[in-house]
Amino acid sequence: MSEIIEPLRGMNDVLPDEARWWHRLERVVREVFAAYGYREIRVPLLERTALFKRAIGEYTDIVEKEMFSFDDRDGASLTLRPEATASIVRAAITNGLLHNQRHRLFTLGPMFRGERPQKGRYRQFHQVDVEALGYGGPDVDAELILMSARIWRLLGIGRVSLELNSLGTPEARAGYREVLRGYFAAHESTLDADSRRRLGGNPLRILDSKNPDLAGLIAAAPLLTDSLDPASREHFDGLRARLDAAGVAYTVNPRLVRGLDYYSRTVFEWVTDALGSQNALCSGGRYDGLVEQLGGEPTPAIGWALGMDRVVLLMQELGTPAPAEPPQAYVVLAGAAAAARGLGLAEQLRDALPWLRIETDLGGGSFKAQFRRADRSGALIAVVLGEDELARDVAAIKPLRHDGEQLDCPFADLPACLARLLGGPSVDAAAAARQDRDP
Ligand code: ATP
Ligand code: MG
Repeated sequence: MSEIIEPLRGMNDVLPDEARWWHRLERVVREVFAAYGYREIRVPLLERTALFKRAIGEYTDIVEKEMFSFDDRDGASLTLRPEATASIVRAAITNGLLHNQRHRLFTLGPMFRGERPQKGRYRQFHQVDVEALGYGGPDVDAELILMSARIWRLLGIGRVSLELNSLGTPEARAGYREVLRGYFAAHESTLDADSRRRLGGNPLRILDSKNPDLAGLIAAAPLLTDSLDPASREHFDGLRARLDAAGVAYTVNPRLVRGLDYYSRTVFEWVTDALGSQNALCSGGRYDGLVEQLGGEPTPAIGWALGMDRVVLLMQELGTPAPAEPPQAYVVLAGAAAAARGLGLAEQLRDALPWLRIETDLGGGSFKAQFRRADRSGALIAVVLGEDELARDVAAIKPLRHDGEQLDCPFADLPACLARLLGGPSVDAAAAARQDRDP
């Protein structure tokens, strides 16, 4: 036997038994985006490194140490996307989506960061990402937050809370940066190496440090809220008024600065107390300067990203059900003639009943072996075809999960028979529904 090739650290397989929680999450977020008029955009996994450097900022955890970058054959530096905002803004610019237009967009998929893997923190992880491009008011900020709150509700997830802050304008922030620089410079000897480097580059990033030794120093640092400009203050009050009116609870956390450089004004984070230290579930903020910074026309914008891996963990932790979808029927085939008909018969049933999940036995073998597989599949009934049934143009239907008579059903009546037994829409209704869906 050859040696097994191990998977990469921090890159997980989602096995079929676990996929159903992912499906439930994906279904809910797609429903919510449809309900609010957000449209899907899909962007590449790979972009030029310069995009993320310029968008996310040099003095961020992501750009300093987390990016998966490599040189292409012609020497261009490429990076696996660590987040989606930069790519979506790039796509909006390069596809001309922002000429006198506004867009409410979402995407979902894998992101890559070279972090130390632990529960809830991986190197390939997955985000749902939403971006509203061209919207400047606090109304859209509130809408994005309402959308995330609705996702928690539909998933039955309690134990989440919302933290909110305003970072003000870049100008106001520049003033605050100098205040902070003075403060941390006075305590330079207590800083760690990361923070010392950021002191010269961007001292705001020190507030984002996860080093527990710095917690006290950070807690005592001057507050950004005190240097907020009047327009940003008004924007923030507008957002709070809308959240209050909609009954969304939050706490203002003046320490919330978020790990990316491109934010301005509104920033927020949904956190949970049920997942230990990987407590951030969904974070976002306004980035009014980013489009211009990436070469587009000045365009206000805001977005959030939800960590799907963590939300799936939380759903499992909180016992959120996610239905398994076993086949409803399992086709058992005895004899060469029946085996030759089996796949075709299942095709006809799928044609007639688009809702039907029917699995055909593959590989043959004894009746006993096939019934064992039928049972293990979780199907409710077996559709049995043997020589005797074939000779009479019928299939035998045998209940697998409850006591009941085995019954013979003529081939022509099989769809109606399955619809009745499985409680699905009848043949005509199913055909009409399909017409509706795939005209
Ligand atoms: P954290 O503080 O936990 O590192 P972050 O500020 O880096 O999070 P964002 O860049 O805002 O996170 O990403 C949005 C969301 O994506 C986070 O709230 C989190 O749920 C999720 N996330 C971020 N990094 C990872 C990761 N390495 N593994 C799993 N989920 C992640
Ligand atoms: Mg991080």
